[in-house]
Amino acid sequence: MKKLALHWKIIIGMVLGLLLGLFISFTGNAQFSNDWIKPFGTIFIRLLKLIAVPLVLISLINGVASMTDLSKLSKMGGRAVLIYLATTVCAISIGLVLVNVFQPGAGFSEEMRASFLERFADSASNRVAQASEVQSRSPLQPLLDMVPGNIFNAMSSNSNMLQVIFFAILFGISLVAIPTEHGKAVKDFFGSLDKIILKMVDLIMKFAPYGVFALIASLITDFTGDDPSKATELLLTLGFYSLVVIMGLMIMVTAVYPTILKVFAKVNFSRFIKGIFPAQMMAFSTSSSAAALPVTMKQVEEELGVSEETTSFVLPLGATVNMDGTSLYQGVAAVFIAQVFGIELTMMDQVSIVITATLASIGSAAVPGAGIIMLIIVLEQVGLPTEGIALILAPDRILDMFRTVVNVTGDATVAILVDKSVGNHPAIENTLEEE
Ligand code: ASP
Repeated sequence: MKKLALHWKIIIGMVLGLLLGLFISFTGNAQFSNDWIKPFGTIFIRLLKLIAVPLVLISLINGVASMTDLSKLSKMGGRAVLIYLATTVCAISIGLVLVNVFQPGAGFSEEMRASFLERFADSASNRVAQASEVQSRSPLQPLLDMVPGNIFNAMSSNSNMLQVIFFAILFGISLVAIPTEHGKAVKDFFGSLDKIILKMVDLIMKFAPYGVFALIASLITDFTGDDPSKATELLLTLGFYSLVVIMGLMIMVTAVYPTILKVFAKVNFSRFIKGIFPAQMMAFSTSSSAAALPVTMKQVEEELGVSEETTSFVLPLGATVNMDGTSLYQGVAAVFIAQVFGIELTMMDQVSIVITATLASIGSAAVPGAGIIMLIIVLEQVGLPTEGIALILAPDRILDMFRTVVNVTGDATVAILVDKSVGNHPAIENTLEEE
């Protein structure tokens, strides 16, 4: 076991977790899982969150402080945002093509619709209430939210990553701007701190196979409760819709990213996947790009050879605003709901889905289940019934796992492209580029 590579240990943890989860569900022992298994999964997620803010803060300060030309920072930011937008629009378009071609909502009978709307009415209206809170914010709120009034407040909540990025960049720029004799000690200090934090991520990763084991086992028991047959029936009814979402997500990972990486960065995809795989598995088992962030950063920097300045800037930003998987899912879900309600969508409606889902995915928090809340805003913009999310709540927890994998893979892809575009690519060439 000791010699086994980490990703194999994580896979074994996942499979064993799956088997245990199924065993617990079929023997009706969900309480056992809650009491004795789930806490280990929670501990693992806490460890990942624990390290995320210090990692972003310190590595970004270190990254900015090591820049010889600060204009690179705005170049990196501008390019990252452009590529984020391009990949997001591409993802939604793929989702829309698939859902229009396969029409998963067409076979949904009136009775099935009524039964889902009734069964999930409460959870749906909970989500609608959460979405209306988001909608009542002023238009410049996202800009306001980026600027912290108190750095300790910003650091005390994982949802304020943009504020941490803001502070780190301001600090890093100031550190570069002061005379070397004053700044040197602080730079060295942050350099050492950076190494310590990366070591901490390393140590936390050693717990990953066990954490993933507990997360998957408790997820299955949470999902099925003590009655697996009910959950299976729900999943089968929504199986076609789920398959269309998963198909779109797979196209992103197996066709879109490989092509982008090959064409724009001449990167060998199988080596890319090998490097990013542990981060994908963190995303899968935690359903949170924010929780997976420390592992994504470590893998992208150490295994894919992307420079620290790019990794520490592009990845935390991407985890917050770049969600290709979420946007693809939102596109498919919106059209699926329209199909079930028998509402014809015009070409203009579909274009408006592309625009609103792009914005909604930017606004989705990098936590489990955020995508479905922002989907409500998409539905409203296009004039679709918001209670329709009751139709797709059942498989959402599972689809969330898949879409988060795509979110994280997309962030890593953008990090490579940006790094290469600002001329930082020797390490990527050594690590990944095709001979
Ligand atoms: N769970 C996703 C993420 O963290 C967001 C979502 O689609 O719900 O990336």
